[in-house]
Amino acid sequence: MVSSMNIKDEHGIMFILSAPSGAGKTTLCRMAVDHFDKMQHSVSYTTREPREGENDGRDYNFVSQHTFKEMLDRGEFLEWAEVHGYLYGTSKDDIERLLREGVDAILDVDVQGARQIKSKGKEGVYIFIAPPSLNSCRERIEKRGVNSKDEIEKRLSSAKKELAEALWYDYIIINDTLDNAFNKLRSIIIAEKNRAFRMKPYLPEN
Ligand code: ADP
Ligand code: 5GP
Repeated sequence: MVSSMNIKDEHGIMFILSAPSGAGKTTLCRMAVDHFDKMQHSVSYTTREPREGENDGRDYNFVSQHTFKEMLDRGEFLEWAEVHGYLYGTSKDDIERLLREGVDAILDVDVQGARQIKSKGKEGVYIFIAPPSLNSCRERIEKRGVNSKDEIEKRLSSAKKELAEALWYDYIIINDTLDNAFNKLRSIIIAEKNRAFRMKPYLPEN
């Protein structure tokens, strides 16, 4: 019997997801948060305007350039980057609070942000979501219907550079069908949660 489960020792895991625009990471993040108990999407800060249907505090914390720069000066970001002309960042406090409470945090950050977290030596699971082809990225961005023609071209040209970074991640998931891709993401999360070095709080005391 696992009698000595010590909740205080339980620490959440940081899952860092990156992908070119349109590869499906927002969709997969949402599916993971719905599927797993004690998993939350880390709500980033951004200077871009909310899109139709997006809620402040749920999809992003929408802030002015001034507020973002103040947060930056106070060293409040775990990572931050300029993506497609806007600033995006992850709050250090928000992540630390989740992990301390034993909640797994799923971060949706671009490759620059993921590199920053990795270079700080933060323990985490780095997952790259790749589209089956660049053409499918284009089709999915168009289908989502929130970006102008100009923005789509910018995103596709960044996609090529982002794909070149995929190989340093721990895992690559090709999002061909959502079922396949989510099965892989789910399997990775379950396997990672059962890594020997994370199981100490769950083992019976000697
Ligand atoms: P990202 O966050 O990576 O930019 P989204 O999750 O917003 O991408 O997905 C872009 C669009 O593609 C959405 O309309 C989504 O429903 C759709 N989509 C995601 N995965 C698939 C898939 N495997 N097959 C077809 N459409 C997909
Ligand atoms: P969008 O504006 O389309 O939601 O996101 C644009 C890009 O910004 C995506 O590649 C997304 O991963 C990235 N992004 C979102 N939040 C953050 C963040 O907190 N930090 C970094 N570095 N990138 C982010």
